[in-house]
Amino acid sequence: MKPLPLFPVTSVGSWPRPPEIREASRQLLRGRIDRHRFDSITDGAIVELLRLQEQIGCDIVTDGELRRDNFYSFVADKLEGVRLMTLAEMLDVVEDKAGFERLLQTLDVPAYSISSPICTGRIARRAPLTVNDLRFARAHTDRPVKVTLPGPYLLTRAMYVPEVSRPFYQAKEDLAEDVVAILRDELRDLCEDGVDFVQFDEPVLTELAFAPGRTRTFMCAALAARNDPAEELEFAVSLINRVVDGFTSVRTGVHICRGNWSRDESTLLRGSYQPLVPYLERLNVQQLVLEYATERAGAVVAFGGKELGLGVVNPRTEMVESLDAVIQAVDQALLYHPADRIFLNPDCGFGTFSGRPINDSATAASKMRTIVAAAQVLHTRASRG
Ligand SMILES: [Zn+2]
Repeated sequence: MKPLPLFPVTSVGSWPRPPEIREASRQLLRGRIDRHRFDSITDGAIVELLRLQEQIGCDIVTDGELRRDNFYSFVADKLEGVRLMTLAEMLDVVEDKAGFERLLQTLDVPAYSISSPICTGRIARRAPLTVNDLRFARAHTDRPVKVTLPGPYLLTRAMYVPEVSRPFYQAKEDLAEDVVAILRDELRDLCEDGVDFVQFDEPVLTELAFAPGRTRTFMCAALAARNDPAEELEFAVSLINRVVDGFTSVRTGVHICRGNWSRDESTLLRGSYQPLVPYLERLNVQQLVLEYATERAGAVVAFGGKELGLGVVNPRTEMVESLDAVIQAVDQALLYHPADRIFLNPDCGFGTFSGRPINDSATAASKMRTIVAAAQVLHTRASRG
């Protein structure tokens, strides 16, 4: 891999699915086409998206998660013992139905169109989660490729619904053991296939910090968190560190945000990263990919020994940030982080859910172009010393 420039530009993962993929997803769901046909439809769109990122000038590209229903649900297709359930189906199995329903209403989440992978048996990797997607991307671009994976804590909490999981795993900690093993197998295979950057998505960590004791995320129907958020954060740190233990030849990162499912910012969490810093510093990954364009994230925090993937545009707004705004955001980050450790990215994905993208492709591309333009200004500034 050729060396990256200063302020490398990349995305956080998802891209709005083009209409043909949304249609193909519906057909796949209804059993009218098979997975092979679905993949052949998505192939073309992924190649187009890779070209687009190259034209824009992204230094590290992704496949936009175009084959996924959402950023974590896709594992249901690849794992034994996991069944995809819509939030409406989950309502049928969880004991606290009224509570879960209230949660969905307050969070502005469509119960019928969002699905979650639920543990309904002993889990095992039937097929690689992302290795085939990596191979496909690498066959169609020369740029370094980032692969995004749901983190072990998110997966464990999302999949463990006691009402259906307990016959197979007494507690979510038992399920976590198998989740860690599966993600380690996946990471090993990704490394063998030449991945450049593996990002683990852990959006639930902010929930522990900002809404302790109140479950605010639809991603975890189980309401299974321990009451002590500090203990739960320790659990998350230990799972992530076990997944990446020994993988030193690849850039690993953890992405944390405060929710990216609605354009109504008032339904999303808010709070500074500060209370999370003692935990983030102990994550044995090279990079923390953090949202900062939204004012809900507060001021830039300092942490040692890691790269910062700095969120400089909000994926949920129609308005494209100005070049000046992006450069100012980088200048703020430079107060706490050295220039050679800052990557530039949006706050989160532009797609999130296949049936309910958070933005349109044209706006997403404009925002990425602004980030690249800012990086170019910063390069010129750096070369002048
Ligand atoms: Zn995010």
